[in-house]
Amino acid sequence: MDDCLFCKIVAGEIPGDIVHTTERTVAFRDINPQAPTHVLVVPKAHFANAADLAAGDPQASAELVTAAAAVATAEGHDDYRLVYNTGEGVGQTVFHTHLHLLAGRPMTWPPG
Ligand code: AMP
Ligand code: ZN
Repeated sequence: MDDCLFCKIVAGEIPGDIVHTTERTVAFRDINPQAPTHVLVVPKAHFANAADLAAGDPQASAELVTAAAAVATAEGHDDYRLVYNTGEGVGQTVFHTHLHLLAGRPMTWPPG
């Protein structure tokens, strides 16, 4: 999709600190990390949010979670948090779905 930041990172048109790839996903470090490990796992195909991805490509939706778990393990974390923001009202700023993997520090609940 034209003008989508994460499509451009997937395509290699914009640099990303890529840590893991699978057939359908790419994982790269968040540019503004909120934890010692903060990685975004995205489908290579463009979907606006997690629900659209789950409806349109369930296999890729599952692969995001298994990819995130693989990155967590590779970085030595048994405990981690996975987050999807959906909609501007809860802080979604990039409308190419991305699973946040956060780990490496204590976390509170509920989230802010
Ligand atoms: P969200 O607020 O859920 O839409 O998350 C978007 C995330 O993308 C934020 O955590 C940003 O820090 C991150 N981000 C924005 N631009 C880049 C980039 N060029 N490379 C890596 N992460 C980015
Ligand atoms: Zn995109």
